[in-house]
Amino acid sequence: MSGGSPAEVSVDTGTCIGSGQCVRLAPAVFAQRDEDGLVALLVARPVGPQRRDAETAAALCPSGAIRLVPPPDAGKQRSRPDVRRFGGPAAGPGRER
Ligand code: SF4
Repeated sequence: MSGGSPAEVSVDTGTCIGSGQCVRLAPAVFAQRDEDGLVALLVARPVGPQRRDAETAAALCPSGAIRLVPPPDAGKQRSRPDVRRFGGPAAGPGRER
């Protein structure tokens, strides 16, 4: 997953081992909690360079605690009405049926 399509980041603090790799690779997206050093998510839907950094962090996380998935509303953003279903372009001169 990469490029301009939206992605939602999720982290699993039950799996995280607090290595801090994600913070070094994507400091704008991830942090570590003061109390136990486990991952804290700063940006749920990173874009541009932050998105790429989050993907790298997910790929290199030693415990597999980071996931990037399409957001729940991603499909809705891409759907477009089928204009033919609504009769197509308005009739004009020379287009009478
Ligand atoms: S790289 Fe993975 S294991 Fe390390 S702190 Fe981040 S989420 Fe936790």
